[in-house]
Amino acid sequence: MDGEPSCSLGTVVCVITGASRGLGRSLAWELCPRVMPGSALLLVARTEQALRVLAEELTLQYPEIRVRWVAADLGTEDGVRRAVQGAQELNGGDTAQRVLIINNAGSLGDIDKSFVDFTDPLEMDRYFSFNVSSALCLTSSLLKVFQGRPGLQRHVVNVSSLAAIQPFKSWTLYCAGKAAREMMFRVLAEEETDIRVLSYSPGPLDNDMQEEVRTKTKDPELRLQFANMKKSGKLIDCRVSARKMLDVLQADAYKSGDHVDFYD
Ligand code: NDP
Repeated sequence: MDGEPSCSLGTVVCVITGASRGLGRSLAWELCPRVMPGSALLLVARTEQALRVLAEELTLQYPEIRVRWVAADLGTEDGVRRAVQGAQELNGGDTAQRVLIINNAGSLGDIDKSFVDFTDPLEMDRYFSFNVSSALCLTSSLLKVFQGRPGLQRHVVNVSSLAAIQPFKSWTLYCAGKAAREMMFRVLAEEETDIRVLSYSPGPLDNDMQEEVRTKTKDPELRLQFANMKKSGKLIDCRVSARKMLDVLQADAYKSGDHVDFYD
C-alpha cells in the first residue's frame, strides 16, 4: 500500500469516531494495512448505512481484522454509553500491543453567525456537549476499558485544527471547541505519562466539512479564502492527511500532548 511498511503498528485495538465519511473513513482505510492480523477496529458515527458499508468493504479486503461499528450520536449520553459498550464487546485489549483511541468526530457549529449573534446558552451547550464533553467522557471511559499493562502502548489522538490556536471570524464555537479539546488532552498528557497523546491538525481537507466552510462561513473574506483554496487545488485529500497522521504516530517523535500540523 503506497510503500508503507506492512503491519508496522503491530496488533492494534482501535476506536475511530466520525468514521462514516471524511477523514475518519480515510483513517480506517489507511490503518488496516498497517496492523497485524488479530487487530480490531470499532467505527463510530451516526449514519448506520455508511458504517455498515465501510465495515463490509474493510472486512472483504482485510478479513483478518475484526471490524465492528456502532451507530451513535455522541452528542448524547446514551450515544457515548453505546460507543463504550461497543468497545467492551470488541475485546482484544488483553492481547493487543497498542490501543488507539482516535477522537475525530467533530462539527463546525453555526459558522453563519458572528460572536454577538450567540445569545442562546442551549445552543452552546449542545455544541460543546458533542465537540468537547463527549470526547472527554468517551476517552476516559475507553481508557478504563483498555487498562494499561506492561507491553501495551496506549495512544489517544485528538483531531484538532488550526482553529484551536488561531481565531477565525465567524467560527466562535468551532475555535472555542477545538481550543478546549486541545487543552483537555494536554492535561491528559501531563497526568498519564504512559499514554501517548497527540493533537493532530489535518490541514484543509477536500471534503463535506470544507464545502460547509465555503458556503456557510459568515465572514466574506474567509469564505473567499477557502473558495480560492478549492479552486486552486490546495485542499488536501483525506487519505493523504490520514496517512500523515499515522506516520506521525508510528514515528513516535512528538512530545505527548503536542499539536502537530499536517504541514509540519
Ligand atoms: P466531516 O463533516 O466530513 O465528518 C465528520 C464526522 O463526524 C462524520 O463521520 C460524522 O458522521 C461524524 N459526526 C458528526 N456529528 C456526530 C455526532 N453527533 N455523533 C457522532 N458522530 C458525529 O468532517 P471531517 O472529516 O472533515 O472532520 C474530521 C475532523 O477533522 C473533525 O474533528 C474536524 O473538526 C477536523 N478538521 C477538519 C478540517 C477540514 O478541512 N475538513 C480541517 C481541520 C480539522 P455522521 O454524520 O454519520 O454522524
